[in-house]
Amino acid sequence: NKIVIAIDGFSSTGKSTVAKQLAKALNYIYVDTGAMYRAVTYFALENNLIDKDFFHSEKLIERLSDINITFKFNEKLGFAEVYLNGKNIEKAIRTLEVSRFVSPIATISEVRQKLVEQQQLMGKDKGIVMDGRDIGTVVFPDAELKIFMTASAETRAIRRYRELLERGHNLSYDEVLENVTTRDRIDSTREDSPLIKAKDAIEIDNSDLTIEVQLDTLLKLAKA
Ligand code: C5P
Repeated sequence: NKIVIAIDGFSSTGKSTVAKQLAKALNYIYVDTGAMYRAVTYFALENNLIDKDFFHSEKLIERLSDINITFKFNEKLGFAEVYLNGKNIEKAIRTLEVSRFVSPIATISEVRQKLVEQQQLMGKDKGIVMDGRDIGTVVFPDAELKIFMTASAETRAIRRYRELLERGHNLSYDEVLENVTTRDRIDSTREDSPLIKAKDAIEIDNSDLTIEVQLDTLLKLAKA
């Protein structure tokens, strides 16, 4: 009997790394919902629906029906990559520019509504690991297993910084830390489905846990 596993938490807690491995071990589908909010942000940037300091949410809302987000499993990578209107944008959505605009865009109710609906459809047959901010609270309030991942902001910024460097991005640790803490603030204070721990979620602080230990813990919980 397959279940729904909801993994929520702040930015760069390493949710997606362990969620991907968990899905693989259980032979479940993995869905990165952050990639969906990033895809909408990428669309908004590409279509000039955002300018530097002024943010036109009406323009974006009007264009929401032109946004078609899909996932396609990549055998080599071992996970599903995100596509926007048929174009692979898995790499393009990981830039600091997208990271800067994604949290404000994720406060728009119409955006959340569209994405939550699609996420619920993707999980209707269970056998899914979904990571995000509101999975255990809004998308799947009845998920059989809910995890809330935490780690200190510094630990998270160091992880993100290393990841971005490896991908060839050139920026400072301070810029990354600033982005992580700003997103935390916007995510936890927005009116529509703020990032909070679901009452029945299990909190895991992974600041000092290896991936192996995290995976092992989650596998035991999933099978319990
Ligand atoms: O997980 P990731 O850091 O890629 O998510 C990018 C941003 O998308 C988050 O900072 C948050 O603002 C938004 N998000 C959200 N709800 C989700 C997943 C992501 O609001 N379920």
